Amino acid sequence: MRVLIPYLATHGLRPFQRFFPDMLWRVDAAAPTAYLTFDDGPTAELTRPLLDTLADYDAQATHFLIGSHAAEHPDLVRAIVADGHRIGNHTYTHPDPWTISEDGLARELQRTTEVLEDLIGAPLRTMRPPYGHPTGFLREWCAAQNQRMVMWDVMPGDFLQTATASRVSSFVINHLRPGSVIVLHDNPICEDVTPQALATILDTLTRQGWSFDAL
Ligand SMILES: [Zn+2]
Repeated sequence: MRVLIPYLATHGLRPFQRFFPDMLWRVDAAAPTAYLTFDDGPTAELTRPLLDTLADYDAQATHFLIGSHAAEHPDLVRAIVADGHRIGNHTYTHPDPWTISEDGLARELQRTTEVLEDLIGAPLRTMRPPYGHPTGFLREWCAAQNQRMVMWDVMPGDFLQTATASRVSSFVINHLRPGSVIVLHDNPICEDVTPQALATILDTLTRQGWSFDAL
């Protein structure tokens, strides 16, 4: 199971991707550039350590923020943007799009848009659904609001109870392709895994000539 979930979330989704061209799974790139994404922040525990490590390697990333966390830690949102990263919408309270009402989901997304745009003074251009659960309504909302739904092509499962830093970093390093979109988490449940995995990922891959950009 611990190996199967990242494997299925990485390889199992590929056959479906061409049916959803409005959703971004991977950037069409020939150069060794990849796109790190961090979901669920900002958090008092992890945001600053993650930013420090990214800065050590001159790497940019995209942070899909939970609106209520952003309202609680506006200084961290500003720190993310000040470091040259981009931020995207990850709803206000992280409900499951497959079970919440459409009206409820729209309110979550709109409230987060307002909070984040107020903080950064620029329009949001990306959204990632909680739990990676897209819906038809979500696709319509994103199209209407000009927020691209960002999925992924590399999901190492840093949030799993069985995750270890070395397993997560190895998974990313072994599955990376030019233009890959990698999912990691700015979430206290990943505290023992993700910061160390990120350092190994960046150290290994920047030595191999990879660079990391924001979406
Ligand atoms: Zn999330």
